[in-house]
Amino acid sequence: MRELHHFLNGEKVKGTSGRFGEVFDPSLGTIQAKAPLASKSEVRQAVEYARAAFPKWAAVNPQRRARVMFEFKRLVEANMDELARLLSSEHGKLIADSRGDVQRGLEVIEFACGIPHLQKGEYTESAGPGIDVYSMRQPLGVVAGITPFNFPAMIPMWMFGVAIACGNCFINKPSEKDPSVPLRLAELFMEAGGPAGVLQVVNGDKEAVDAILDDPDIQAVSFVGSTAIAQYVYARGTQNGKRVQAMGGAKNHAIIMPDADLDQVTNDLIGAGYGSAGERCMAVPVAVPVSDKIADALVDRLKRQVEGLKIGPATDSDAAFGPLVTAVHRQKVIDHIALGVKEGAELLVDGRDFRMQGYESGFYLGASLFDRVTPVMQTYREEIFGPVLQVVRAKDFDEAIALPSQHAYGNGVAIFTRDGDAAREFASRVQVGMVGINVPIPVPIAYYTFGGWKRSAFGDVNQHGTEGVRFWTKIKTVTQRWPKGGVRDNPDFVIPTMK
Ligand code: NAD
Repeated sequence: MRELHHFLNGEKVKGTSGRFGEVFDPSLGTIQAKAPLASKSEVRQAVEYARAAFPKWAAVNPQRRARVMFEFKRLVEANMDELARLLSSEHGKLIADSRGDVQRGLEVIEFACGIPHLQKGEYTESAGPGIDVYSMRQPLGVVAGITPFNFPAMIPMWMFGVAIACGNCFINKPSEKDPSVPLRLAELFMEAGGPAGVLQVVNGDKEAVDAILDDPDIQAVSFVGSTAIAQYVYARGTQNGKRVQAMGGAKNHAIIMPDADLDQVTNDLIGAGYGSAGERCMAVPVAVPVSDKIADALVDRLKRQVEGLKIGPATDSDAAFGPLVTAVHRQKVIDHIALGVKEGAELLVDGRDFRMQGYESGFYLGASLFDRVTPVMQTYREEIFGPVLQVVRAKDFDEAIALPSQHAYGNGVAIFTRDGDAAREFASRVQVGMVGINVPIPVPIAYYTFGGWKRSAFGDVNQHGTEGVRFWTKIKTVTQRWPKGGVRDNPDFVIPTMK
């Protein structure tokens, strides 16, 4: 069986721990490779390499760092087909969707190409008599990113694009379920002229994550994954004095107002609910029609479309979505559907018995649709992360706005309406970090920032955009004076002020 590697100090390096994770091809349901799971000492080795590379990389002027990012972007584009195929083969999402995964990451690389401007400090001339004040944004040093399975290209690039452009040396610990794209990105970064040790990939599980969180030379950790682990990473990392941002799970709602165009909304909900088999943190697993009047009409439309959805292997360009990432995850989603039924929700379309002809061992699951889900149900409160859409009926606008606002998660939310006043009020009042108005998946573009509220994110600073530059740099403020020759001050025992 193919054995994957780490990528350390510019080279592919075999794992030495003797422990491996299985990498599946979800479309076929077979194990296609084994990924080494790093020990503490392998993580430490990566840190040593990064420490050695840091002073030189930090001293490279920002325009030259940007040129490496420009070249990296060109190389990723040139290798797009290969990356998308590789990504789909380990994740199971459709190839067109994998291209989107890579492209969304590249958009952060494009943003990072502006680092000479983005990393500029501020300057105040004559802030006091003969005194100037200026600030600079300096890189942190060795930093790390722990990434989830569901966007193995985009999320590493969210992090390392900005971190490296700022002058840091970055260690990526990708998901052990689909590590090949992050490994390939590190190779392309070297090809683009990135020095050895600036971008490394260490494969692993909890042992590697704990080694990162405890290593005294790692200054900052960015995490994206499920909420329980996000909270753990945030607590342990900050306990150890690190800067940590940790994005967690989600349960995004779409509010459908009575004046919305129901045919358009149905298309939007189908795409956002079932695309990538629902394995997106910005998927829409909850639809909230406002008033029974439109609820019945919406549910009818949804049911018709859901029943007709085509499921296929990742290579099927006509399919709506592919298999789930692993058999274990598939079973978890099936259990959730059973829970919904047990709690009294109305299962209108049941995808559990779906079998993909010719791919019987693949991790496929049909699309499921629930009506009359209520906020007290566990199946509503928890993230499912599968091809399951739940309809929760609300009687009016206030009840609809309360649902996402009172939910434990607060990643994304959308409202569908033709009423600008309602949309504006919704955007202002709703307690969620990213809002779409007639946009089902409001993932902010690269030069804005990505981040949820409540149990969808721990820490204060978002991913990418100018918040990303803030996260990956520390600010230093210099107050300077150049006294004229011969002038002497007496000792001053009072705090200097601008009075
Ligand atoms: P996960 O939490 O299982 O894994 C994420 C990372 O944590 C992986 O690198 C994994 O190796 C590591 N990890 C797993 N168990 C660990 C443990 N016990 N201790 C330490 N580290 C551990 O998440 P996943 O299944 O890979 O990804 C799906 C989850 O990520 C969903 O909950 C989804 O909502 C969330 N997600 C959130 C965002 C966001 O920006 N909010 C984006 C994408 C995905």
